Amino acid sequence: MYNPKSLKAEEFIDHDEVLESLKYADENKSNVKVIDEILKKAREAKGLNHRDASVLLACDIPEKNEEIYKLANEIKLAYYGNRIVLFAPLYLSNYCINGCTYCPYHAKNKSIPRVKLTQEQIRDEVIALQDMGHKRLALETGEDPIHNPIEYVLESIDTIYSIKHKNGAIRRVNVNIAATTVENYKKLHDAGIGTYILFQETYHKESYQQLHPTGPKSDYAYHTEAMDRAMQGGIDDVGLGVLFGLDKYRYEFAGILMHAEHLEAVHGVGPHTISVPRICPADDIDVGAFSNAIDDDTFAKIVACIRIAVPYTGMIVSTRESQKVRERVLHLGISQISGGSRTSVGGYTVEERPEDTTQFEVSDRRTLDQVIHWLMEMDYVPSFCTACYREGRTGDRFMSLCKAKQIQNCCLPNALMTLEEYLVDYAAPATRELGEKLIVDNFKDISNPKVLETVKERLDLIKNGGARDFRF
Ligand code: SF4
Ligand code: SF4
Repeated sequence: MYNPKSLKAEEFIDHDEVLESLKYADENKSNVKVIDEILKKAREAKGLNHRDASVLLACDIPEKNEEIYKLANEIKLAYYGNRIVLFAPLYLSNYCINGCTYCPYHAKNKSIPRVKLTQEQIRDEVIALQDMGHKRLALETGEDPIHNPIEYVLESIDTIYSIKHKNGAIRRVNVNIAATTVENYKKLHDAGIGTYILFQETYHKESYQQLHPTGPKSDYAYHTEAMDRAMQGGIDDVGLGVLFGLDKYRYEFAGILMHAEHLEAVHGVGPHTISVPRICPADDIDVGAFSNAIDDDTFAKIVACIRIAVPYTGMIVSTRESQKVRERVLHLGISQISGGSRTSVGGYTVEERPEDTTQFEVSDRRTLDQVIHWLMEMDYVPSFCTACYREGRTGDRFMSLCKAKQIQNCCLPNALMTLEEYLVDYAAPATRELGEKLIVDNFKDISNPKVLETVKERLDLIKNGGARDFRF
């Protein structure tokens, strides 16, 4: 029954195959020989299949777990270097006709106001985001064909790309909207989106059906097969994710890796990103009701094992997580984080953080500048780079560069140049001082002398010549 090449959800996420994999992991979780063999394979940094990776996730030998954490960090540095890409979510509308039991936007929740931004309001939100320094957004809407039809999303994308305020610009719009048709994915592709993101929420079909009792999202197969339709519609870069805490985390872990293997087997390119949200409190949502919620140690282990299993896939952690947890998982393979986020509709244009339309409670409430400062104190290079998608390095072009560990020849120079833009245009004095020093410290990691020379010239043009938007 299990067939990664099948286009049927129940065959590429075959329930029995997941159970078999978890059984194999249980049988081998203390088996040093098997674990060492898997770690040896993992050190080649070509990735692991869902079965082997499930063994590492289940491994209960403390010394081996330390090896797993160390390896995750090494793999991350080998593929992406020390840059961390920044983005912000932008909520357009919380109208939704679905019944997801873990989300406050579910149709039956009458205690929250329903809000949909006009194009004028989107303009104001985007200016506020540009004034923070953001260059990359993730658009979010509920599913509602009357209030949020595809035309509304397309018009909003056009509006966002058109706004040039002072030196600001949104250069990449990723889109997180409900599963839709190939035709609509084509329209999103033509509108110039970056990544299409859709969280599976849970791969466990039975749980999925209980958690999604009403609305179009209740169709497990239609939702699970969405990425295939997106790719058929021409979208090269897709982002997977599950909401950890809905079902057993080991099931979700095997499921998400099987989904990645499926995309690779059918389309020749795996997911561009994997997100790792955990269930967290919100209006009408009691986390205590979700008995599968995971603790911080388990969360860290999941991040490390995903990093090892799919080294070429970006990993995203949001402001759902606290500063402390984010710090921990940055060292285990996270390559993208949000900063200064407001998870409410219209949240960026008001002084006080509104709570009544938030999709989830933000744990990390620092400003973007504080996040940038914090990253640099840990010697990470905050990056506002959007170069790949704009240079046509998407899908298999991106993956082949990434798998060959060539992408960081672009990542670091682009990170330094976009960081310089941030420092000049938006940073607090202390952040700028720290950043200028960090940029110079990182010159040593640009091995090609010609590239280094060009970077230095461009940094000077950004600082002293008013130039912007250089990229490799
Ligand atoms: S998770 Fe998405 S689809 Fe479900 S209720 Fe929330 S906004 Fe709607
Ligand atoms: S060069 Fe490509 S992979 Fe690297 S940060 Fe920029 S967009 Fe991302």
